[in-house]
Amino acid sequence: MNRLRNTDIKYLKGVGPKRAELLNKQLDIKSYYDMLYHFPTNYVDRSSVYTISSLNGDMPAIQLKGRFVTFNTQGEGAKSRLVALFSDGTGTIEVVWFKRIKQIREAYNIGNEYVLFGKPTVFNGRWNIVHPEIDTTTSAAAMQGLRGIYPLTETLRNKGITSRTLFTYIQGILSATPNIAETLPQSLITRLNLMPLREALVNIHNPKNNEQLQRAKFRLKFEELFYIQLNILRYSRRRASATAGFRFSRIGHYFNTFYSQCLPFQLTGAQKRVIKEIRADMGSGQQMNRLLQGDVGSGKTLVALLCMLIALDNDTQACLMAPTEILATQHYETISKLVAPIGINVKLLTGSTRKKERDAIHSQLEDGSLHILIGTHAVIEDNVQFRNLGFVVIDEQHRFGVAQRARLWKKNSIAPHVLVMTATPIPRTLAMTLYGDLSVSVIDELPPGRKPIETWLRYDNQRLDVYKHIGRELQQGRQVYIVYPLIQENEKLDLRCLEEGYELIRETFPMYKVAYVHGKMKPSEKDYQMSIFASHEAHILVATTVIEVGVNVPNATTMLIENAERFGLSQLHQLRGRVGRGGGQSYCILMTKHQIASETRHRLEIMTSTTDGFVIAEEDLKMRGPGDLEGTMQSGIAMDLHIANLATDGQIIQLARNNADDILDADPELASAENAVLRQQLTLLFDKKIDWSQIS
Ligand code: ADP
Ligand code: MG
Repeated sequence: MNRLRNTDIKYLKGVGPKRAELLNKQLDIKSYYDMLYHFPTNYVDRSSVYTISSLNGDMPAIQLKGRFVTFNTQGEGAKSRLVALFSDGTGTIEVVWFKRIKQIREAYNIGNEYVLFGKPTVFNGRWNIVHPEIDTTTSAAAMQGLRGIYPLTETLRNKGITSRTLFTYIQGILSATPNIAETLPQSLITRLNLMPLREALVNIHNPKNNEQLQRAKFRLKFEELFYIQLNILRYSRRRASATAGFRFSRIGHYFNTFYSQCLPFQLTGAQKRVIKEIRADMGSGQQMNRLLQGDVGSGKTLVALLCMLIALDNDTQACLMAPTEILATQHYETISKLVAPIGINVKLLTGSTRKKERDAIHSQLEDGSLHILIGTHAVIEDNVQFRNLGFVVIDEQHRFGVAQRARLWKKNSIAPHVLVMTATPIPRTLAMTLYGDLSVSVIDELPPGRKPIETWLRYDNQRLDVYKHIGRELQQGRQVYIVYPLIQENEKLDLRCLEEGYELIRETFPMYKVAYVHGKMKPSEKDYQMSIFASHEAHILVATTVIEVGVNVPNATTMLIENAERFGLSQLHQLRGRVGRGGGQSYCILMTKHQIASETRHRLEIMTSTTDGFVIAEEDLKMRGPGDLEGTMQSGIAMDLHIANLATDGQIIQLARNNADDILDADPELASAENAVLRQQLTLLFDKKIDWSQIS
């Protein structure tokens, strides 16, 4: 395996330095190993040959056997194409090339027999195949069973590198490597009846039949997921045994007084349950690492506050960290107001806190007179020292990098309890992989009296109706958000859309005041604009996604999202969560241009059909794959997966986890000879990367 990893792909027969560079740039293939682990996304069945007369309806990629009858070059210059007629005795089909015309013309002869691969489609009433793969009948006969179809890029295709080329490269590697060392312990292979590694690699590219393919897939997926779980578990076990935590045994003055005198409303059943779960952790003597999931508006802040009070009752300090200044300020305002009657010292620390105030905060933290610190990542700066930090709440963690969290963790001699809160619902198997040993609590109930938000999909030509709706809401004293996308690659253009939109809105609603925020503004200006919207001085807020997280203006009842097709599902869900926070009926309007891809329409229709964050997260995961989900990028796991799919391989994840657990139970340090291979693989796979499992 090491030899495969260390051999540069340029040394493979038929590759050479130029193609190596292409493969490297286009597919990130640098070594023999990378090539071998570039798995097919699809297969063609080489065992059956179709006849042209039997083509019908919507065909998959198929195989035809016959002869070219004519070749014709049509059109001029960049528009020229080569059209051939191909006959198999039962009928003829057109074969078309737009690129590499000269080479193609020279490579194939009229009258010789060839085997074509491709997807036939009907064009102008005739069957046709564009850019098929072509084999001579002898080379086709050499191939049997199912053959892999590989992911490629347009650039590679233009340079004449086809799926077929990659297949040949991979076969070259396999035949040059009769021995590939097994990467799982033999006992595990036997116990689960897994296909041995080399056999699995052979069968993933060129399976004898579907059954062999399924076994090969299973083996490779299992291995991939198994090592991820083994890695997570070995760290979490080490940490659990090494990391004692504060034992919060008391419920005291602060909690009790607040609960009986200051609680603004009855807790929901879900809030109560979650607080119990957290309390149990905090009393256990081991450091808590808990993920609190709860949809937008489910009341996570109050849960966090009650738990902070338990920390205070046990003579420690608490800290709440939020991803943005706006959100931190909002938390600060909510919490300081709530606890004002019981004499708790709460302070806000952000990037714009003045030096004098900052110095005061530092000294109060050190002498212990500051009970609760709320802030942005300013709270993890090196000169912030707590006297005795017992409990840390991290809101909307996916905005915090792994390294930032680790710094917080280093602030104490005893590890503080950590509660990570998120409104981004994470499917269970994904959470298991991303957050490893975090225990999970879920608030699955909204406070009573909330009306479900109505969500509409509207097109540009219905804009007037949409504005009428907005006008009505404004007239009733409601407020409105209007959101524009702002996405990196196209920042200038996006900003222009936002500015034009702002002007248009001001013209359309001249009687109302319009506030305006985007991420490129100075924080002070942004805060000013947000504050006039929050105080109802402004009626409409035109914004980019900076308002996505946490902003709380219960009087705002309509969220209009422009170019909704450019947002991901979880982002749309977050944005929608900005409305529906008061008693009034709220609306979310997704605007798009009329022509959108059916996949896009499907995505937007999920939004109109459900407000359940978990359903949306599952769909998001299915449609986009976990690599795109927020949070997975920083972990680096999803990107490294060659074959397993965190969205659909939940059962294999569970199996992998159970087996990893059993192995660690029997041999915690993986010291046995049998487990040597596990240690080797762990080092190879993970030890150079960031240790993301130490994320508390
Ligand atoms: P999120 O989970 O999105 O952070 P918040 O903590 O901001 O939600 O709560 C959303 C709103 O619901 C706030 O205005 C809060 O005061 C209110 N709220 C929280 N818990 C309850 C409850 N048990 N009953 C009624 N309203 C509640
Ligand atoms: Mg919140």
